[in-house]
Amino acid sequence: NFMRVVVESAKSPSEEEGIGVELLCVVRNLLKKIKRRVLVGDKVLVGSIDWIDRRGMIENVFQRETEILDPPVANVDHLLVFFSLDQPKLEEFSLTRFLVEAESTQIPVTLALNKTELVEKETVVAWKSKLRSWGYEPIFCSVETKTGLDSLQFNLRDQTTVIVGPSGVGKSSLINALRSNPFGLIAADLDDSSNSISGSKWLEDQRVGEVSARSGRGKHTTRHVSLLPLSGGGFVADTPGFNQPSLLKVTKQSLALCFPEVRKILSESEPLKCAFSNCLHVGEPGCLMKDGWERFPYYFQLLDEIKIREEFQ
Ligand code: GDP
Repeated sequence: NFMRVVVESAKSPSEEEGIGVELLCVVRNLLKKIKRRVLVGDKVLVGSIDWIDRRGMIENVFQRETEILDPPVANVDHLLVFFSLDQPKLEEFSLTRFLVEAESTQIPVTLALNKTELVEKETVVAWKSKLRSWGYEPIFCSVETKTGLDSLQFNLRDQTTVIVGPSGVGKSSLINALRSNPFGLIAADLDDSSNSISGSKWLEDQRVGEVSARSGRGKHTTRHVSLLPLSGGGFVADTPGFNQPSLLKVTKQSLALCFPEVRKILSESEPLKCAFSNCLHVGEPGCLMKDGWERFPYYFQLLDEIKIREEFQ
């Protein structure tokens, strides 16, 4: 397996010219032996660099800030929850499920709604005010008519983003639109027919741009994930994430904190806290969320689902 690595920093001034260069790398056998898996998005140390042939060897993997499994990408620092207003129609509970799954990663979330040209202006206005009350500042766009793509592009800059959402909303179309944009993304294919690397003692601090990762789903299924570089300095994964939110990482206690409107009320009430430290905000005495909130019925339904799962675990 070869991985495409983008050089981010150099160890010595003579290697600074290499910053931004893409190297095709193999993983050092020792790392494989100790089962240190390299994920797309990992920061890695590369040695044995051949600058002419642009080859190198991954010698070590730095500690990850974040790690998501679907798709397998390390150091994601932004999730773009992507839905369409119509075809398929935007539905509050489904959107809430995705938002909760995204929030549960603790990675910052942006919400964008596609296919604006299919609905009346009033529909957009109504969703905007609803989603603001949920604690989101949504971006409205249409990949079809190319509206709102500039603000999406602006939002993705300098970050490593994974796009998540249900099928049919336009995620692949968005990735393609961003790619073909002159200010957008550059993609390069992996070259598997490469020669072996030549020896060199230079060391570089680099970043994996592409690896082929084995998914947990089947023994022989190999999933290729790529991070497509953005001209603004960021990356976007070419494979969208969690098609079906499992909520497996969400517990009874953490669920409420996956709702920004709850987080806001709880933090604004500080130093006051709910009377019970394990309050689930479902009508306990002394609960700070007593006034009720719009998404409470969805919260309640998800809480029930999680309770059942936890009982059977
Ligand atoms: P994905 O499953 O989320 O990756 O969705 P796709 O990118 O495959 O898009 C699903 C369908 O929606 C395709 O037929 C696209 O052409 C269409 N589509 C994508 N963006 C828009 C849009 O802004 N407006 C409309 N009307 N259709 C769109």
